[in-house]
This record gives sequence, structure tokens and C-alpha cells, in this order.
Amino acid sequence: MSKGTLLVISGPSGVGKGTIVGEILKSRKAALSVSCTTRAPREGETDGKSYFFLTKEKFEELIENNGFLEYSKHFDNYYGTPRKFVEDKLEEGDVILEIDVDGALNVKRAYPGAVLVMIAPPDRQSLVARLRGRGTEDEEVISRRLERADYELSKSPLYDKVIINDDLGKAVGEVIAILEKGDNKQ
Ligand code: ADP
Ligand code: 5GP
Repeated sequence: MSKGTLLVISGPSGVGKGTIVGEILKSRKAALSVSCTTRAPREGETDGKSYFFLTKEKFEELIENNGFLEYSKHFDNYYGTPRKFVEDKLEEGDVILEIDVDGALNVKRAYPGAVLVMIAPPDRQSLVARLRGRGTEDEEVISRRLERADYELSKSPLYDKVIINDDLGKAVGEVIAILEKGDNKQ
């Protein structure tokens, strides 16, 4: 049995996942997994921080070599969670994955001990306001993300816990409580 909890955080774009994870990492030691992708970096994204940006050939080679805990394709690009990083870090402590619902459910299949947490908005209006307020996407991308949001939230019943991100401090506290409880270990 490894030492840490594998915590998988999902939720619609703009719900506050990145903000919550950032707050958790201020007060707890945990490893945040950086995914691999074949899509091009966006402005301001750094290789190894936002993602590991790989060629399609390299990604497919890693698939062949069982290098991913899970992977999927979105809009013609591959995205995957590196297996070795997660397994090594779980020996030391908690590991957090911030991935979409399809990836999360695949992780649960591979690691039944993983804890799946869905971050949900208090209501749709707040989600729209946060996406607009973040100012990183144009209206067309925002409306695509909102469509996807309905799909993501429809998978909530398959999650171990649904946390409403209304009061940020409260939501962060609820996620930390899951890590402190520390069950569901691998
Ligand atoms: P995600 O990682 O889920 O796409 P972000 O963490 O980027 O979302 O958050 C989207 C926006 O919502 C950011 O501008 C962030 O400051 C804001 N936000 C996050 N949590 C809350 C909250 N509880 N109340 C109000 N605004 C929030
Ligand atoms: P984006 O290109 O906007 O960064 O991400 C597109 C989609 O890929 C999002 O839904 C995001 O959650 C998902 N994604 C990011 N990393 C991974 C991963 O490691 N595995 C899977 N399955 N999806 C991921």
C-alpha cells in the first residue's frame, strides 16, 4: 500500500479547480500531476508546468509503453496522465490530478482507491460570471465550455464527493478534510 491518497479533481471550466488546488498547495504538501498533451502551447503556458507538450509520435510511443495511467483525445489532441510520476509520488504522499470526467473515471477503474471529487458551481450564472471574469477565453470558447459543463456535471453521481465552490475557503476546507481523512489508499 502506498503512502498517499490519489485525489482526482474535476469540474467545469471556470468553476475554480485551479484556484482550489492552488490554495491546498499553500498549506499542504502534495504532488500535482502535470498532464501530457499533443496540443500546441497557448500564450503564457510553460512546458512542464501547464503541460508537458509532446509530439503525436512521442505520445503514441508512450501509449505503447504503458506510460499513461489514463489518456483520451479531445478535439483531435491527446491528453494523458503520466503513470510513473503519479506512482512514484504516491509512495511519498498525496497526489492531486486535475482532469476531466472521462479521464477521472478511467483513473478510478485503474485505481479503485482514488477519491473522485467534483467541484460544482453554486449555480450556472456564477459559472458564466467566473468564466467571463477570468478573461482568458473569448465568447465562442466560453459557450463551448458551458456546453461541456453540462456533460461534466451530469457525471456527478459517479463521484465520491461533490463540493460546491461558493465560499472558496469552505470548499478548500472540504477538500483538505478528504486528504486528512486519508482513506481510500491504494
Ligand atoms: P478552473 O481551474 O476550474 O477552470 P479557475 O480556478 O481558473 O477555474 O477559476 C475561474 C475564476 O473563478 C477565477 O477568476 C477565480 O478567481 C474565480 N473563483 C474561483 N473560486 C471562486 C469562488 N469561490 N467565488 C468566486 N470566484 C471564484
Ligand atoms: P485544454 O486544452 O483546455 O487545456 O484541455 C482540454 C481538455 O483536456 C479539458 O477538458 C481537460 O480537463 C482535459 N485534460 C487535461 N489533462 C488531461 C489528462 O491528463 N487526461 C485527460 N483525460 N484529460 C485531460
